[in-house]
Amino acid sequence: MQQKQVYIKTYGCQMNVYDSEKMTDLLGTLGYRVCEHPSEADMMILNTCHIREKATEKVYSELGRLRIVQQARRNRGLEAFLVVAGCVAQAEGEVILKRAPYVDFILGPQSYQALPELLEKKRSNQILSRSPAGVALEFDAEDKFEKLTTISPFQESRVSAFLSIQEGCDKFCTFCCVPFTRGAEFSRSAQSIIEEAHTLVNAGVRDITLLGQNVNAYHGLGLKGKEWSLGHLLQALSDIPDLWRLRYTTSHPINVDNALIAAHRDLPKVMPFLHLPVQSGSDRILKAMNRHHNRAYYLKTLASLIEAQPNLAFSSDFIVGFPGETDSDFEDTLSLIAEMNQMGAYLAQAFSFSYSPRPGTVAAPNDNVPPVIKAERLQRLQEVIQVSQQQFNQRSLHAKMPVLFEKAGRHMHQWIGRTPHMQSVHVYSDAESLVGQMRCVTIDGLGPNSLSGTLET
Ligand code: SF4
Repeated sequence: MQQKQVYIKTYGCQMNVYDSEKMTDLLGTLGYRVCEHPSEADMMILNTCHIREKATEKVYSELGRLRIVQQARRNRGLEAFLVVAGCVAQAEGEVILKRAPYVDFILGPQSYQALPELLEKKRSNQILSRSPAGVALEFDAEDKFEKLTTISPFQESRVSAFLSIQEGCDKFCTFCCVPFTRGAEFSRSAQSIIEEAHTLVNAGVRDITLLGQNVNAYHGLGLKGKEWSLGHLLQALSDIPDLWRLRYTTSHPINVDNALIAAHRDLPKVMPFLHLPVQSGSDRILKAMNRHHNRAYYLKTLASLIEAQPNLAFSSDFIVGFPGETDSDFEDTLSLIAEMNQMGAYLAQAFSFSYSPRPGTVAAPNDNVPPVIKAERLQRLQEVIQVSQQQFNQRSLHAKMPVLFEKAGRHMHQWIGRTPHMQSVHVYSDAESLVGQMRCVTIDGLGPNSLSGTLET
C-alpha cells in the first residue's frame, strides 16, 4: 500500500474530535498517516463546527489558505485533495462548492464512511483534475457507525479515548443549530458500542468518555433485544476488565433518570464528574430557550445525584445576554451557582459564552442585549465561576487521589494525568514512563489550570 499523508484541522466539540479520529482511522486503512503541516499532505481535511458566530466565514478564509498549498502541490504533480467535513459542510452543503470550487469533497457528520468510495471515484475519474467535488450529506448515522470500526495502523497508543454512542438532538433549544446539522437523535446498539470499547481497551485505552449531543437520552438496542438507557449501558461497559474509568458527555437535565443516578451510586468505574449544562438560572430565560426544565428541576436533579454519590462534582454551560435577558435574569444565573455551592453540588468547571445568533435558529432574529452588557455579564459570571473552581480545587489540597497518567509533560521527568474529577495533575518522577499507569498522588500545589502532586510510593 502506498504511504500517504493526511492533515486534519478540527474545530469545535469533542464529537468533532472523535469524528476526526474516526476519519483518520479510516484513512489509515488506506495508507494515510497523520501529518502536522498541510504542505506535506496528500489530503487536507477541515472538520468544521457551526456553533460559533462567523464559523462559516472562518472556514472560507482557511480554505483560501489551503488552496494556495493545494495549487503548489499540484504544480509539483502531487495529490492534494481538499475536504470540508462536519457541521458547516452539512449546513452550507453545495454553497461551498460554488464559493470554493477547488474543494474536492464535502462530507456531512453522518457521511464520513463515504470517503474511501468518493476518493476511489475521484481517482478513477481524472486524478488531480478540477472535476466536480464529491458530496455526501446523508443523515445515516447507523451506516456511519457500522463502517467506522477500525483503528488506524498508524494510531499512537492512547490512555483516554472518546466513544460516540448517540448523535443528534430532538430538543430544539432556541439558540442551538445541532438539530439542523446533526439531525434527529440516534442511538447505536449496545453490541456495537461494547465491541468498540473492547477494541479501544485492547489498544491500551483505560479511560473512555462516551459521547453524544444528548448522551443521556441514549436509548439503544440492548443485548437481549430490549432498549437500554445510558445507566444500563454503563453497567455493561463496567464489566470490561481492563477498562478503569468511564465518563459521558454532554447530558441534558431532563434525561437524568433513576438508572443513571444508580450508575453513579453503584459503579466505581463511573467517574464522579458530570457535565450537566443549565445555560441560565432564570426560569423566564430557560423557557425562552426551550430547555424543557426550570431552575428548581435542575437543582432537584443535582440533589438526587449528590445524594446517590456525594463525591460527585459538576461542570456546566452558561449563556449570558440571551435575547430578552434582564439584569434580574442574569442575577438569577449568579445566584444559581451560589445555591449549587451551598447544597454541595460543586462547580468544578464551567463553560460560559455571550449569546451569539446561529442562522436558522428561533432566537436568532431577537438578539437584543447590547454587546457591552453581554461583555460585562460574561466577565462577572466568569469571575464567579473562577472562584467556585478555585474553592473546589482548594478542597483537593493535601488529599490523596488516584491519578491516571496520560502523557509526558513539557519538562524533564514531568508527567501529566487526571483525577477522577478531570483535574489535570502534574508530578515529577524518574520512572521511565508513567503513561497508562494509575497511581496514588498526594496533591500539594494548586495552579490556575492544574494541580501538582507527589507520587505515593
Ligand atoms: S439539547 Fe439543546 S443545546 Fe443540546 S444539542 Fe440539543 S438543541 Fe442543542
